[in-house]
Amino acid sequence: MDFGAKALRYAGRDIPVLCRADCCVAGGGPSGTAAAILAARRGLKTVLIERGVVLGGLSTLGLVAPFMPTNCAGSETPYVAEVKGRMREHHIEMSDGVTGCGWSNPEMLALVYDEMGESAGVETLYHTVLVDALLEGRRIRAAVVQTISGLRAITADIFIDGTGDAMLARLAGAPTERGSERTGRNQPMSFRFEMGGIALDRLHAYVAEEMGDTRCRTKPPYFEFAQARHRTQRYRLEEFFWRGVASGELTEEDAEYVQAFTIPGKPGTMAMNCPELPPRFSATDPLSYSRAVSYGRAMIHRLSRYLIRHMPGFENAYISREAAMLGARESWRIRGRYYLTEADYYGEARFPDAVARTAWYIDAHGERVEAPLPEGRFYEIPYRSLVTEEVPNLIVTGRCISASFAVQASMRIQPTCMSLGEAAGVAAAWAFHHGIEVNRLAWAEIPPKARSYASAGEG
Ligand SMILES: Cc1cc2nc3c(=O)[nH]c(=O)nc-3n(C[C@H](O)[C@H](O)[C@H](O)COP(=O)(O)OP(=O)(O)OC[C@H]3O[C@@H](n4cnc5c(N)ncnc54)[C@H](O)[C@@H]3O)c2cc1C
Repeated sequence: MDFGAKALRYAGRDIPVLCRADCCVAGGGPSGTAAAILAARRGLKTVLIERGVVLGGLSTLGLVAPFMPTNCAGSETPYVAEVKGRMREHHIEMSDGVTGCGWSNPEMLALVYDEMGESAGVETLYHTVLVDALLEGRRIRAAVVQTISGLRAITADIFIDGTGDAMLARLAGAPTERGSERTGRNQPMSFRFEMGGIALDRLHAYVAEEMGDTRCRTKPPYFEFAQARHRTQRYRLEEFFWRGVASGELTEEDAEYVQAFTIPGKPGTMAMNCPELPPRFSATDPLSYSRAVSYGRAMIHRLSRYLIRHMPGFENAYISREAAMLGARESWRIRGRYYLTEADYYGEARFPDAVARTAWYIDAHGERVEAPLPEGRFYEIPYRSLVTEEVPNLIVTGRCISASFAVQASMRIQPTCMSLGEAAGVAAAWAFHHGIEVNRLAWAEIPPKARSYASAGEG
């Protein structure tokens, strides 16, 4: 990495250039982190910008513990397997041996990401916020970032947008869209939290045995309970929460969606995938987003009070952690060279430039939830959904790739976002070493051994 002292002209003044990289990744979520690690391992001087002080995005800052299963064989790319293996080395076994779900631990995942980034040679810049992009024609020349010492520029040949919100793509003038095509609304956000001090065996006995809720097929230390009003299926726990609405202890909004997962390595602690904020709060409107924080916090306290008072096993429980990032499932999405639609999902699309496959169902929470694809079926995601016609040196990865609202609600799960990031890093390095613009790269021309994923069509 070159840490030159040259300045760049920005908004009528000179700002110092913090560093000059081959590849600059904005956003250290599951996808951006994977992209940075792969690009660095393949020989690029790589800088990773993260506004928080931890890598992992929603999975650490947002307390999204589980890696949902892709529900199809052959989807696990080497990087995803490596992350799980490294967690195991740190005594976090993510597999329950039954469901295919990956049960993560946010603090350990943060450490694993740091270790992987450091050993790959990634220069991670924490507490650094992408605020603008300096363009040269259609190419991005520099990322403008807010650091602890003020505005700085980072120049690079290739940029990867891992912000989840297509922030860099928008700054660079790439076309984007947001929300449901039908309602214009984003998927509902959640404000996740963790509760400690739970007697898990007592909770399990109550839910699985006394209530007869057998939808969770595993027992503590891997245990989940849930209820959701907006689904077609009905849950045993619904009545428990709606009693709280009737008594005035909970609002209907509090009781709309409640879900909790145990966390390996944190005995007596559960990751709460709730409260789900009412859909009137928007993930793309700054005022609404901000108001959702205090609204959601009040919901957290009502829910936890109710659980402590009424749920066996929660008698001595307490709020042990609040997410440091609101859980936006979907915000902006790019319109890239290929736009994935439901026809691809239901038609089980295959692509010569496929970089990942998944069969996770369309899970757009309050907006739309579809039945899973039949067993053994899946669709692929092409590299062209990660690049735009407009910005030659930009790859966009993670939950904001070029996909319709419905398909995004399927491809957004962590393992898929990680595999996309992995492919983005591989592609960036290949394009750099071969003098190709990343938006013109033909993924299929990378030798299969050098790729992270070979399309199903290749056998
Ligand atoms: C409530 C909720 C529950 C979920 N449950 C599950 C689940 O059970 N299992 C599952 O597999 N998936 C789940 N998901 C989906 C999954 O967590 C996300 O889709 C996934 O984390 C997306 O990864 P990403 O890297 O694209 O983006 P993100 O995780 O959003 O990461 C983006 C990163 O970019 C950083 N960033 C953003 N803007 C800037 C900027 N301007 N400057 C610097 N840094 C920036 C952020 O701080 C963050 O670290 C859930 C999501 C939500 C919201």
